[in-house]
Amino acid sequence: MQVSEDIRKLVAYKPGKPIAETQREFGLSRVIKLASNENPLGPSPKALEAVRAHLSDLHRYPDPSGFELSQKISQVWNINKNYIALGNGSNEIIDLLIRIFCEPGEKILTTEKAFLAYPICAQAARVKTLTVPLKPDFTMDLEALAKVALSDSKIRLVFLPNPNNPTGTYVPGAAIEKFLAQVGNRPNLLVIFDEAYNEFVRATDYVSGQSWLSQYPSVVVMCTFSKVYGLAGLRLGVMLAHPEVIDLYHKVRNPFNTNELAQVAAMAALEDKNYLQASQVVVWEGLEQIYQGLRDLGLKFWESQANFVLFDTGRDANLIYDQLLKKGLILRPVGNYGWPRYLRWTVGLKEENQLVLKALKEILPSIPPLD
Ligand SMILES: *Cc1c(COP(=O)(O)O)cnc(C)c1O
Repeated sequence: MQVSEDIRKLVAYKPGKPIAETQREFGLSRVIKLASNENPLGPSPKALEAVRAHLSDLHRYPDPSGFELSQKISQVWNINKNYIALGNGSNEIIDLLIRIFCEPGEKILTTEKAFLAYPICAQAARVKTLTVPLKPDFTMDLEALAKVALSDSKIRLVFLPNPNNPTGTYVPGAAIEKFLAQVGNRPNLLVIFDEAYNEFVRATDYVSGQSWLSQYPSVVVMCTFSKVYGLAGLRLGVMLAHPEVIDLYHKVRNPFNTNELAQVAAMAALEDKNYLQASQVVVWEGLEQIYQGLRDLGLKFWESQANFVLFDTGRDANLIYDQLLKKGLILRPVGNYGWPRYLRWTVGLKEENQLVLKALKEILPSIPPLD
């Protein structure tokens, strides 16, 4: 079959190992998945109720405009409705932005060790990805990114995951301000803030890209219902952008890209302030628990503004990953990011985190350290 080299060489995204697969392979009944940054509390009870109430409408096509959900987002996030569009997860929004704004042979720019969806979607559209190394503390190097963005007119989109996955690191508002002063007014260049973990941030100098939407028409912000809102399975992402970008997006997207259950569940989740708060608290407490546990084990980690922790096992991380799987614990190897010694650990419930710490304590001595 004839197909372009870009497609032939594409390496598909490798998601976290599913629970059912792990149960089958290892003959386990109880498996705990802390591999995909999902909400450990399960969905909001209000979202579940909304889904149940709409099950009998499944023979109908969903509202193609997502009218009521957009209205609700507009109120709760305090943003003009003309600035909102929905997607089948932020993943679809990434894919569509690249298809809309990049011609084959043009480029996107992002940081090294960023979410792999950017280069994968780009390559699928025959678009090149340029990257800039992280700083030694694993934060994004906005100065270097600005330099590259200004030096190459083929770059059409800059993706800035803030906080970043898989590092959990962030860049503060002041650095963004400087970055936008340099590149925010370029014709034909959009700056996309991927803020999937925005609600978990505790750093006081963090500022959402939303603050610059009205000042810079080139700014785009992506949010998701997959993380703090606990609806990863229903697939719902949100794009906040200048109405001109929103209009182009509506032309290209599939008419029914977000389904009815996702729309009603997201509305209910937005109203459930208790759930939002509980989801933040379980992650914040879990982070402290995990940091302390990793310190006790003598393992290096990176402080996280998200709901996961990147840590250095000091060993071949795949060996540890395999041993954890046998105990019914799924973490996420990050060898595909070029980090063979590290694992990414999604914050779970207190008992779940405790089980991982206990397992690590048992496993670590049996695996030889690497330098
Ligand atoms: C999890 C995640 C998303 C969310 O993806 P969805 O398609 O909305 O589930 C987006 N960006 C990053 C960096 C993520 O880690």
